[in-house]
Amino acid sequence: MSGSTLLDDLNAAIAIKPAFGESCNHCGFCCLMEPCITGQAITGKKYGPCGLLVSEGGLHKCSLVVTDENNVMVESLGIGAGCCAETQEETMARVASEFEL
Ligand code: SF4
Ligand code: SF4
Repeated sequence: MSGSTLLDDLNAAIAIKPAFGESCNHCGFCCLMEPCITGQAITGKKYGPCGLLVSEGGLHKCSLVVTDENNVMVESLGIGAGCCAETQEETMARVASEFEL
């Protein structure tokens, strides 16, 4: 990450992040916030940003996925399955909706 702080990177990611479940656009929010189980196992870190995250031109990729043909990692990391991360705002909106608050 190019001299920016984690907060800068998170704010930039949140600004372009699609809604939960929509197509991933590589904003990086999820992996900046917290390493996934695979990332935690490999890096030993429980807090973001994940050390396996590669950032380029404002977009982010997992360095474990070298090519689209790397199907085992693509499947186990849920890549292509839609956005898997909620911002705090999205979580609050979902909870309010589920509990009719
Ligand atoms: S998908 Fe890759 S970069 Fe993202 S948290 Fe998991 S291991 Fe790290
Ligand atoms: S899955 Fe992660 S990188 Fe993809 S859109 Fe959601 S928060 Fe961004």
